[in-house]
Amino acid sequence: MNMRIGYGFDLHRWAENRRLVLGGVTIPHNRGLLGHSDADALTHAVIDALLGALALGDIGQHFPDTDPRFKDADSLKMLRTIMLLVQDAGYRVGNVDCTVVTDTPKLAPHMLAIRRSLAQPLGITEKDVSVKATRTEGVIMTSSEGLLAMATVLLWQ
Ligand code: MG
Repeated sequence: MNMRIGYGFDLHRWAENRRLVLGGVTIPHNRGLLGHSDADALTHAVIDALLGALALGDIGQHFPDTDPRFKDADSLKMLRTIMLLVQDAGYRVGNVDCTVVTDTPKLAPHMLAIRRSLAQPLGITEKDVSVKATRTEGVIMTSSEGLLAMATVLLWQ
């Protein structure tokens, strides 16, 4: 069996009058994240992990933020596009492990929905999608500034 591992990281600023979308799930909150697309930092981290595993560059190369086609784009659609590259390379996703760093909102009530939402385009079940949440404790940045997400993925063939 051939295996490849990939890692992704993304960070978006909070913004007023924006939806908060994480892993393709809209989460009720008093603000969202700033970005050219839907600013789904978690899905972006997963996309970068997949691209990293195959050494195929990064999300900015595949979906330039200067391209009007990706304005407010659904990041799950971007994930599906990247999964075609994974399939073309002859690989399947084994599992994904993610961490979201934010103080608010509480993500626990939404975790199962987020895991299921990410699992579908990845071709796996939610048992193979881990999403953890941790708080900033005021270190590195405060909750008033932004939200960051990290993802590690294992591909196999
Ligand atoms: Mg991003």
